[in-house]
Amino acid sequence: MTTIDSVASLGEGFSGEVLAPGDPGYDAARVIHNGLIDKRPALIARCRNTADVVDAVNAARDAGLELSVRGGGHNVAGKAVTEGGLMIDLSLMKGTTTTGSARLTASTTTASSSSSVATTPTTCST
Ligand SMILES: Cc1cc2nc3c(=O)[nH]c(=O)nc-3n(C[C@H](O)[C@H](O)[C@H](O)COP(=O)(O)OP(=O)(O)OC[C@H]3O[C@@H](n4cnc5c(N)ncnc54)[C@H](O)[C@@H]3O)c2cc1C
Repeated sequence: MTTIDSVASLGEGFSGEVLAPGDPGYDAARVIHNGLIDKRPALIARCRNTADVVDAVNAARDAGLELSVRGGGHNVAGKAVTEGGLMIDLSLMKGTTTTGSARLTASTTTASSSSSVATTPTTCST
């Protein structure tokens, strides 16, 4: 699959925004906290949900593009932005949700002890 084919396939079921160089919003989306970083992704996938992230990862793999992930954009080294690859932008995804009987569990285990912390079902958004 060529890069162009992959970009087209990303657009089919993708519910977020897809930005290429020259598109309105492209330059704003590639800016991160460290203003010295000036990298230009071939494509920016602004994901809205988990399925969008899966689509973007698959599209980058199919096209052989380097993948980077932008969360808050505060990594000083600028690892959130790829030069010439596909950047997954998570900045539109601002909440986490667990429903029903689902529980988030974090645990640590060492040779001599183990502990776990479980949360009650909750919804968080910013
Ligand atoms: C002014 C300033 C203040 C800070 N204060 C604090 C603080 O108080 N406490 C604290 O804990 N930290 C602090 N930090 C550090 C910052 O929170 C960390 O760098 C954090 O990891 C940034 O998260 P982010 O979501 O903004 O990452 P982003 O900048 O969005 O970067 C994405 C992350 O994903 C990684 N990544 C990208 N592509 C891939 C890939 N393909 N595969 C695997 N990984 C990938 C990158 O290496 C990077 O770590 C500060 C940083 C700054 C600049």
